[in-house]
Amino acid sequence: MTDITAILQEIVTEIEPLRSVGATASYIPFLQRVDPNKFGMCVRSLEGEEFTVGDCDEPFSIQSIVKVLSVAMARGVMGEELWQRVGIEPSGNAFNSIIQLEIEKGVPRNPLINAGAIVVCDVLLEKVSDVEKRFIEFVRALAGNPNIDYNLEIAESEASVGYLNKAIGNMLKYYGTLKGDVDRVLDFYFKQCSICMNCRDLAQAFSHFANHNEAFSFGGVELTRSGVKRLNAIMQTCGFYNGAGEYSYRVGLPGKSGVGGGIAAICPNRYSVAVWSPRLDSKGNSVMGLKALELLTTKTSVSIF
Ligand code: GLN
Repeated sequence: MTDITAILQEIVTEIEPLRSVGATASYIPFLQRVDPNKFGMCVRSLEGEEFTVGDCDEPFSIQSIVKVLSVAMARGVMGEELWQRVGIEPSGNAFNSIIQLEIEKGVPRNPLINAGAIVVCDVLLEKVSDVEKRFIEFVRALAGNPNIDYNLEIAESEASVGYLNKAIGNMLKYYGTLKGDVDRVLDFYFKQCSICMNCRDLAQAFSHFANHNEAFSFGGVELTRSGVKRLNAIMQTCGFYNGAGEYSYRVGLPGKSGVGGGIAAICPNRYSVAVWSPRLDSKGNSVMGLKALELLTTKTSVSIF
């Protein structure tokens, strides 16, 4: 891959006017306290070269980015049968919307919105013994970092105000989509969202989704190349909730955002990228993160389109 250090420097300069646009996720007390002025970015080529800028070594709460990793584990465990529990269609609604779930009788549109991810947690609890340990080992193996862990302070902070996710869990239980105990499933869900990683960790973890040439086998989770490509398709269509169209239009790479301000994305067979900036737009996506990715694919003239 050609050296893109100069491009990353240009991006930092060009996103500067957005520095005070948006706000940190105020509905989770811990996230509201994060320094909103952080910005980090790491691009990792398939060969393992890293190009970085800013706060790329500082861990942050990956929040919904984890949904890609948990559905990867569930798809590895259950294969195509997984899609009988959760759909693969974009929702066009907010990540934490409950309206569609009632209209569609408790089957979530996709695994990258909260309702779908809560079902994925239920599947994992049902199918994988010692699941919290196995899941974090999978994440560590993907990122090549044995120090990655759940952050129980963040998980408790979210659980203390997690009324909407609890309502979603209860509705899923009412419709029979959720098999396990609602509180237990939500506990695992909040723990997953609390995992802290830095941009380098995330870029390495997602590089395996960019790599369509080698076997995907990490921490006991195996996916075929076709399985990996299909997860990328779900990232492209569902990774940004009701902002998925705008994201596809502006950035053009399969990716996933989280309300911690992180975004991870991949360019198939070329590179993975992670960016972090805590100020979010009204749809829960990082303002500067989106702009930085838009500039990256524009300046390099490479996207999936
Ligand atoms: N833990 C967050 C929630 O459930 C994750 C949302 C997100 O990152 N979009 O609300």
